Amino acid sequence: MGFPDEPGPAVPHNPLLHRDRSEEEFAPPPRARDRRPRKPRRADRSRPRSPGTNPGEGASHPQATVSAVLRGHCRLLLDEEEILCPLPAGVQAAPGDRVRLAPGPGAPRVLEVLPRTSTLWRPSPSSPEKRKLLAANVDLGVVVVTSTQPPLRLGLVDRFLLRLQAGGIRPAICLNKIDLADPDEPEPEVLEAYREQGIPVLACSASTGQGIPELRTLLEGHTAVLLGHSGVGKTSLAAALGGPTRPTARLRKGDRRGRHCTTTSNLARLGPGTWLLDTPGLRELGTEDLSTTEIAEGFGDLLQHAENCRFRDCTHLIEPDCAVRRAVREGALPRFRYQSYQRLVDGEQGESADSFRCARCGEVVPTSGGGTRHRNHCPRCLHSRHLDNRPGDREACCAGVMDPVAVWVRSDGEWALIHRCRECGALSSNRIASDDNEMLLLSLAVRPLSSPPFPLERLA
Ligand code: GDP
Ligand code: ZN
Repeated sequence: MGFPDEPGPAVPHNPLLHRDRSEEEFAPPPRARDRRPRKPRRADRSRPRSPGTNPGEGASHPQATVSAVLRGHCRLLLDEEEILCPLPAGVQAAPGDRVRLAPGPGAPRVLEVLPRTSTLWRPSPSSPEKRKLLAANVDLGVVVVTSTQPPLRLGLVDRFLLRLQAGGIRPAICLNKIDLADPDEPEPEVLEAYREQGIPVLACSASTGQGIPELRTLLEGHTAVLLGHSGVGKTSLAAALGGPTRPTARLRKGDRRGRHCTTTSNLARLGPGTWLLDTPGLRELGTEDLSTTEIAEGFGDLLQHAENCRFRDCTHLIEPDCAVRRAVREGALPRFRYQSYQRLVDGEQGESADSFRCARCGEVVPTSGGGTRHRNHCPRCLHSRHLDNRPGDREACCAGVMDPVAVWVRSDGEWALIHRCRECGALSSNRIASDDNEMLLLSLAVRPLSSPPFPLERLA
């Protein structure tokens, strides 16, 4: 599919050919920032040189844009054609990268990757420092979501948004498949929270074409990337926009999750100065390599309140007098936004459906064991978090740290701990588990004896 003012390509799978364009259109003008300057290399004719090692020489070197990276090779957009070129060992390139080529006749040879204006990384889940560059020099990242097929996962959206922000890429959200949505509520209300932060949110359907002109307008003049869980319709949207057409995978029966179908990234020209990078479906995009500060920066709505926290370096997880948690309690910040932040900062290292990390001593505590299925205090230090109103519900309340203050016997004869929230003062009673720290329990039980509320000797 082409634009009305431009004839469509003759070869559907490669719209980059047969277009009338100048080389400058291949990439956006470079901006000043490159987050990760490469180490200078040894002088070696077969290896890329770092920028500026040979002043004056660079001007005559042809430049090209990487459209795809394959094993040991890259596809390059050069003049009027797309060529396959070996990638020298040790050079990490990604779609969108600008490269300088060796001059002269013969097979094109990559000398170096030029400084990047933005980057999109994926850390390896096992070792975050080993991360993979997914795209370079992209200036707009469109997170594609659907409300039903597959269901909207806000945690995933936030992780995509964080990755975009960390790489210096402007975000947008595209809600696809609105043809399948409930006509009474075509857009999930939660997306409004992103709009309020200035992130454009568009609704469209790759199937019916609804909203596609608006999406095209959003992309105009940008080098954009479509991100999202597989099955949300990225390939279909790219095709509807006039990008490369590729087979789309049918949704797997049963779990309504997508299947990986798109295999390599591809950079395609959508119009003058407008480029679209189609990435393989990413089921998960980790944020393990990001610091708490970097994560917090992705939550502008949360940071608005952070100015009033008692501590400048408040993590908004356990500190007293935290204005962010107060805003959640008072309804000034949507609870799901705080929970998303909390899961990203805290949860992923120690918290899952089956365990939580003690906010005081850091112990990872299984939620069942010691004779209880809904454990909410740490067996080691006996501290708890003010999270649950009902057993097992770890999503409510103010999230303050709860100190164990007393031991008592409930009316049914069961021994319990009384916790008091440092944040809001609420008291709660929690069953003692068989593996709770006995010495601490004992010291709590005898505390009234060591500092009695009234003179004990009078009892005699
Ligand atoms: P990708 O994995 O994100 O690239 O998703 P695909 O483009 O492969 O789409 C996954 C499935 O969703 C395919 O069966 C598409 O035909 C279907 N699909 C994509 N967009 C839409 C849409 O707007 N409406 C409907 N009903 N189905 C769509
Ligand atoms: Zn705070």
